[in-house]
Amino acid sequence: MKIAIIGVGTVGSAVATAVKNTGFVHEMVLFDRDGVRARAAAEDLGHAASFGFDVKITAVSSYRGIRGSDIVIIAAGANQKTGETRMDLLNKNAMVIADIIPRVMANVDAKNVKIIVLTNPLDVMVMLAHKLSKLPAGRVIGTGTMLDSARLRTILARYFDISTQSINAYVLGEHGDSSIVNWTSATVGALTLDEFCKQTKVSLPATTRKTIEHRVHNAAYEIIRGRGATWDGIGAAAADLLRCIINDEHRILTVSSVSGTGTEMLAMSLPRIVGKNGVVTTLRPKMSATESAGLRRSGKIIRNGYDEIA
Ligand code: NAD
Repeated sequence: MKIAIIGVGTVGSAVATAVKNTGFVHEMVLFDRDGVRARAAAEDLGHAASFGFDVKITAVSSYRGIRGSDIVIIAAGANQKTGETRMDLLNKNAMVIADIIPRVMANVDAKNVKIIVLTNPLDVMVMLAHKLSKLPAGRVIGTGTMLDSARLRTILARYFDISTQSINAYVLGEHGDSSIVNWTSATVGALTLDEFCKQTKVSLPATTRKTIEHRVHNAAYEIIRGRGATWDGIGAAAADLLRCIINDEHRILTVSSVSGTGTEMLAMSLPRIVGKNGVVTTLRPKMSATESAGLRRSGKIIRNGYDEIA
């Protein structure tokens, strides 16, 4: 299994580290328009790999070096500075995706390759990558709200003092400020959230739910304020998605993928079954009227972003 990472800044390096530690990849090539940075990352990661799984990690100076890649991860582009939203990156990063995708497609096997997009604003970049690559929608996948859902599950796990593994709860829509928490379909073990609260005598009132939503929406801003950027969470999310594809796991992940065509074309995160061919099936979870309205609003924001750059 050969993978390529395009853009080896903070996020690309974290993804490379997390992917290397899965042991599922035998070859990893790194490309960055800053060749010095890519070579330094490959050196450092190569040294780290000698303590774990055998992975051949090299920097490539042209897109020819990504030939033979089964999966291409795009982590290039401007990141948010303190106070910036993901949508603020729209024009800058649309140019980055428009630069990268044709070069990638000229060097990969279009019949098999999967593209994983991490660049923000994520959903719009997935739409652009889908359009430019002409790949089937299911093979252009954004990590979407995998990370937001992980943040939600982590907060709930601490609140209930229970393992995150026992919590199924999704953040849906935009990987951004308009995402919604799908409380209606959340479960703990096999119990609905309400039933779990009743049996454990823990209350989760509307005010607490609002606070949790606020914390999920603000997690990236808080991390950027404290650390300058976010990387560990997205590194782990990308490696998890990669693992799911490589092992054809058919797990349900809240990834972003395109549906519809023309003016109806839209990418957003919904629970989707993911396997070796990318997105296999998209699921429609139960939603309250407020959640459905929030999801529609989120879709409009994404679509407006796309219309600005299309
Ligand atoms: P960074 O500035 O540390 O690294 C970006 C890298 O991209 C740089 O090394 C730069 O040289 C390279 N690059 C820029 N344009 C390029 C091009 N045309 N071709 C090849 N390489 C190019 O930024 P970062 O913190 O690593 O963030 C990268 C992206 O990931 C940003 O858009 C950020 O918003 C996004 N991000 C996404 C998530 C998510 O959940 N999806 C989480 C965190 C960050």
